[in-house]
Order: sequence, then C-alpha cells, then structure tokens
Amino acid sequence: MTAINGQLSHFISAISQTIDANAEEVAELDRAIGDGDHVNNLQRGLTELTKISDQLDSLDWSSAFMKIGMTLMSTMGGASGSLFGTLFISMAKAAKQNDMTSKGFAHIFEQGVESVKQRGKADIGEKTMLDTLIPVANSLSKNAAENSELNELLAAISQAAIEGMKSTKDLLATKGRASFLGERAIGHIDAGARTSQLMICTIADCLDTKR
Ligand code: ADP
Ligand code: MG
Repeated sequence: MTAINGQLSHFISAISQTIDANAEEVAELDRAIGDGDHVNNLQRGLTELTKISDQLDSLDWSSAFMKIGMTLMSTMGGASGSLFGTLFISMAKAAKQNDMTSKGFAHIFEQGVESVKQRGKADIGEKTMLDTLIPVANSLSKNAAENSELNELLAAISQAAIEGMKSTKDLLATKGRASFLGERAIGHIDAGARTSQLMICTIADCLDTKR
C-alpha cells in the first residue's frame, strides 16, 4: 500500500469548490423532493475533511478512507451522511486487500457501493445516489478489465456518472424522503445522485492528464 503524497487534500479542495459552486442548484433539487438540507450536510462533511486533509495525506489509502468514512458518518447527518460514510468505511476494508491500480481500485469501489446498497436497502432505479454510483462502479470494472488507457477510463466513468444522475429525473422514488411524494417526484433529479456525479467528475478531471 503506497502513501498518498498529497493527492487527497487536492481532491478534497477541488470537490469542495465544485460543491460550493453548485450548492444553490443542489439545495433546490433537495427542496423539490426532500427537505433541502443535502448540500448543507455535504458541505459540513467537506469542511471537516478540509480540516484534517494534511493528516489524510500522510496516511496509507486504507487508513485514509477509514478516517474519511468515520468523519463523514459523525459530522454530516442525514441519510447521505451514513451512506457516504459507509461507502468509505467499506472501501477502507477493501483497500487492505487491493492495490491502488485501476483493477484494484475497481474492486475497492465495487465493495464500497455494495455496502451502500445494503445499508440503504436500495438498488439501481430507486432514484438515489446509487443511480450514479452503480453505473460508475460497473464502468470502472469494465474499463479496468479491458486495460483501458487512464484517460479513456476517466472519460467513461464521468459519462456513466452523468447518465446515471440524469436517469433519476424520470424515476419514481422508492427509497428516502422523495418516496413520500409518489408520482410527484417524477421530473426532478435526485440531489444525492447529482452530488455523487459532481464529486466523481471532479476527481476524474483532477486525474485526467490531458487537461
Ligand atoms: P435526508 O434525506 O435524511 O435529508 P440528505 O438530504 O443529506 O438526507 O440526503 C438525501 C439523499 O440521500 C437522497 O438524495 C438520496 O440520493 C440519498 N438516499 C436517501 N435514502 C437512500 C437509500 N435508502 N439508499 C441510497 N441512497 C439514499
Ligand atoms: Mg435532505
């Protein structure tokens, strides 16, 4: 397991900027079919991660994912706090058995997403963050198995994230607060699917050497 060498603080800062820049839109999405607090929950978690980002840079990947997961779990609140927390805690466990190669990370991310499914008792097509996370996990596994070039893999996961996020618009919600609205939730993008997509696309942009 290799040291992180400053990558995580860079990702956290880039993600914080992206979420801040899109905060009003995300608040609007969660107000339409939830209670409006999703972006504040996420910004609270990101503020805490920013405070410990130097420390995160000094840890190995597994320990860093664990610290991120525990921090999100204890500071964010909301359904998304426990789900994003679960994602990273599960990734921390998987990172002990896998290297940070494309194939190794594909396994790590897949494990994380599997735990989110279990924790939320949800799957694809239920108008949640999983409609972004599952297609991204699938695209990552497929491109890693095919030994795609890094930039090709990054473009593919960004596209999977965007398509997954957009797919939530026409879905009926069967999990989370939006499920209370029945048919009235149709026509709105899910807030957690949007923030998941924004974060994944931001990391992909950071790693894309052609940019
Ligand atoms: P809360 O719904 O408790 O106010 P947030 O507003 O922070 O929490 O997060 C809402 C987001 O959490 C939703 O937009 C959705 O993406 C996600 N979510 C809610 N319930 C579930 C679930 N059971 N499985 C997966 N994701 C969920
Ligand atoms: Mg909410």
